[in-house]
Amino acid sequence: MRAGENLWGSPISVGRFVARQCLGAASHGYAKPIFGISDLAQLAYCEIKSTISQIASRQGYMTHVFMDDGTDGVRKSSRPSLTTEEKRETTDTLRKLFENERTQDFSGARLARGRIAEDIELAGTVTERRHFDFAEFLLIGVPDALIANELVIEFASSRQPYLTAKDKLLQANVYAVLWGVPKYQVIVAHPTTGQRVATDGTADIALAEQTISTMWELLSGRRSVRPPNNPNKCISCPYRLSCPFPGSGHIATIEEMKRIAIRH
Ligand code: SF4
Repeated sequence: MRAGENLWGSPISVGRFVARQCLGAASHGYAKPIFGISDLAQLAYCEIKSTISQIASRQGYMTHVFMDDGTDGVRKSSRPSLTTEEKRETTDTLRKLFENERTQDFSGARLARGRIAEDIELAGTVTERRHFDFAEFLLIGVPDALIANELVIEFASSRQPYLTAKDKLLQANVYAVLWGVPKYQVIVAHPTTGQRVATDGTADIALAEQTISTMWELLSGRRSVRPPNNPNKCISCPYRLSCPFPGSGHIATIEEMKRIAIRH
C-alpha cells in the first residue's frame, strides 16, 4: 500500500483530533468553517497575519476549491519540466519582476512571483490537493511537491530566508502528517542573491495537532490573537498599511480583520 492510501475513508488521528479525508464535490457540507494549510505557516510569524490571511482565502475555498475535485476528492496536478533554455528565460522574467517589486507590491503580483519561482524550482514534480473533515471544521491544502509519497517539499522565495524557513516548517509538517508521508523538506531561496536555506524534518503528529488546534482556537474565537513577538516583523508584512497594530498597538477586531482581508 502506498503511503497515504490509509487516508481513504479511514479515520486519521492527529493527536486528539480524528479527521476523515473528504471525497469529491458533493460529499461534504459547505456550511462548515474551512481553513487552509498554506496560511498555517504564518502562525509562527504573527497570529494576526495568519488570521487575516485565512479570512482572505476563505471565499476562494468556499466557491472554487471543491468544484474540480474528482470523485475520490483528490486533485492531482503536475508542473511542466523545463529545458535549460526555458529555465534561463523564466529565471530572467522572475528577476525582472523582483527588480520591479516596489511598483508591484500588491497580493496578485506577490502570488505571481511566488508561483513562477516555484515552477522553476519544482519543475517536473507532481502534487495532490486534498481536504479533510475534522468534524467541527474542514482543512484544505496542497503541498508544493510530493516525491514518491516519501517526501513533501515546501518552497518559498523570501528576502528573509531563515525566518521564512522557520515559519514554513509548521505548514510542511501538517502536510506530511495528513498526506501520510514520513518526511518533509522546506527550501527557501532569496530572490536576488541566490542564497538558499534547506531544512529537513520528520512528520510529527503532536506538532501538527498543536498547529491545527491553534488556528482553530483563533478562528473560532476560543482564544484571542496575539501580535508578533518582535514588532519589527510588521515592517515587511503585506498588511502593514491596513493593520492598526504597528501604528497604535491596537489588535484588530474580527470585523477590522475582515475589512483588511477584503482590501488584499
Ligand atoms: S502588521 Fe504586524 S501585527 Fe499586523 S498583521 Fe502584520 S505582522 Fe501582524
